[in-house]
Amino acid sequence: MKILLVEDDTTLGHAISTSLNRAGYTVNWAHDGYEADIALHEHVYDAVILDLGLPKIDGFEVLKRMRGRKVVAPVIILTAREDLDERVKGLDLGADDYLTKPFKLPELEARLRAQIRRNHSTLGASIEYGPLVLNISDKLLTVNGAQMLLSPREFSVLEMLLSRVGRVVSKDAIVEALCKWDEGLGNNAIEVYIHRIRKKLEPLGIKVLTIRGLGYLLQKAQ
Ligand code: CA
Repeated sequence: MKILLVEDDTTLGHAISTSLNRAGYTVNWAHDGYEADIALHEHVYDAVILDLGLPKIDGFEVLKRMRGRKVVAPVIILTAREDLDERVKGLDLGADDYLTKPFKLPELEARLRAQIRRNHSTLGASIEYGPLVLNISDKLLTVNGAQMLLSPREFSVLEMLLSRVGRVVSKDAIVEALCKWDEGLGNNAIEVYIHRIRKKLEPLGIKVLTIRGLGYLLQKAQ
């Protein structure tokens, strides 16, 4: 999971990025609105944590521009005070949630997980890839129109791979996607799910490549 953190306060930014790193997220930290705007042009993020009072370009403008370019990543805004107008304006401009400073880091992480999960489940009703159609809302996989049974976790792993076709999906990202609030899941477990999915997809001409040290990549056989 890749997060863009936009925060000019060094102490707070450092605390947030350290805690998110520890939780397994990849964090790009932009220290002002201009850097954030560039980062949002150049990368795809799973979520954005956006401070509003920023040097160069303020948070509202960053938000307005990204939504103007149809960037759909969920945005959690950080407001410095109990300012209702500021929150309303942020939400009107397309923010998905907000936190008022000061806040506890576990609360930010909980909101972040909720937003990412919601965003991934509403990205599209179904994903098609070769003969596969993965219906996300109904949790159904069909192959050339016939249903193929998957366990809920296999489904989540496949959903993760299919929603990032062409990109390597890290084991950490899969663990993050599978783990609910307090449930631990080891890397070995991920290998088991990948192995099962690989066996199911290979006869269909779809490979799950292991990219050593990086993760997994879905590929159609030539
Ligand atoms: Ca600030």
